[in-house]
Amino acid sequence: MAEISIAVDGPGSSGKGTVARKVAEELGYQFVDTGAMYRTVGLLALRAGVDPRDAEATARIAAAIRFRFAFADGRLRVYADDADVSEAIRGEEVGKAASAVAVHPAVRTALLALQRGLGNEGGVVMDGRDIGTVVLPDAQLKVYLDAALDERARRRWMEHPERSFELVKAELAARDLQDSTRATAPLRRADDAVLVDSTGRGIDEVVAEIVALARARRA
Ligand code: C5P
Repeated sequence: MAEISIAVDGPGSSGKGTVARKVAEELGYQFVDTGAMYRTVGLLALRAGVDPRDAEATARIAAAIRFRFAFADGRLRVYADDADVSEAIRGEEVGKAASAVAVHPAVRTALLALQRGLGNEGGVVMDGRDIGTVVLPDAQLKVYLDAALDERARRRWMEHPERSFELVKAELAARDLQDSTRATAPLRRADDAVLVDSTGRGIDEVVAEIVALARARRA
């Protein structure tokens, strides 16, 4: 059976990461989290005292990183130049920096070749914002995973309960706006993407729907 490439795009906290990872597990495919790459660029910029709005300096950082991905206990580990950054990239400050560096075309170009290299062979589930539109426009299955803002904010809030719900929701909305209005590779549903709304639905149900779509496409 031919192994296909699956693109999963959508806004923050739509469940993309968890859903894409589980779909990959069920199909025996590789999972590629492109958000982790932008987050790593954001993290290294912050650590180096570089302003995430500085296009040239952040592009230099992006081009120089040696990424390595591994799985341990079913979780994705991300290594940048051999340092494990898996936990460090998950903070809200880093998420904000990731969204800021992701605006720069030169940063995107630096990561694009790497992403295509990982995705073009098939047998992969790749999640991000522009996978179906830019990175893998020929993916055999494209999914646009969405959920209502309130529900996405509630999910993110559960990960950061120490912060106020209203603040978490406002930050999420601001990030969505930045991601969907930037000039280069904005978050957008590809014309041929299947829209999956996860509002009020459990992860397993959404995973099963996408796995069924994938099996139909590769048959
Ligand atoms: O998905 P995640 O929240 O980890 O992504 C962090 C940020 O990286 C997003 O807000 C977005 O600005 C950027 N990103 C992107 N293109 C991708 C994946 C992520 O611009 N393919």
